[in-house]
Amino acid sequence: MANSSSSTPGKRASRARPSPGGGAAHACGLCGKTGRLTKTACCDQWICDDEGSYVMFSYARNSCSRNHRRYTLCGYHHTAGHAGDWRTCQDCREEFEPEIYVYYGTNEHNFVTLENPPEFAPTLCSTCGERLNLGEGGYSLSNDGYRCLGCTASDLGL
Ligand SMILES: [Zn+2]
Ligand SMILES: [Zn+2]
Ligand SMILES: [Zn+2]
Ligand SMILES: [Zn+2]
Repeated sequence: MANSSSSTPGKRASRARPSPGGGAAHACGLCGKTGRLTKTACCDQWICDDEGSYVMFSYARNSCSRNHRRYTLCGYHHTAGHAGDWRTCQDCREEFEPEIYVYYGTNEHNFVTLENPPEFAPTLCSTCGERLNLGEGGYSLSNDGYRCLGCTASDLGL
């Protein structure tokens, strides 16, 4: 009756598994640890199963799996439900500032990085002109644009 027009994309059963045989221990693809591991939902890579050690609201970036999910295009792309490969995804490209896009696509939380990250103009503090690093933080965004913390603080009378 109901025509099921939803066709599941053909999944290839080609699983290249270079298993050398003999229970070689897996290691986290990011930090190399061999403790508790899990596989990333986005790209099926071995990674530390360390989300539990994250202290709520600490904003510490010490969890491999969390870092990959939160601070990479790969993780974002998967979470957002985009189609295809994140490296060629136009949606990802359009949803971030170019600088953030490049950071998310090339930082140390990635298993694979963008081969040809797009060029972008450096982001400068709109008050003092200091170069900001949008990926690492240390800036504020207001109606006047991006500003370094120093200018933000002096503006607040600190
Ligand atoms: Zn790790
Ligand atoms: Zn991934
Ligand atoms: Zn995407
Ligand atoms: Zn400034």
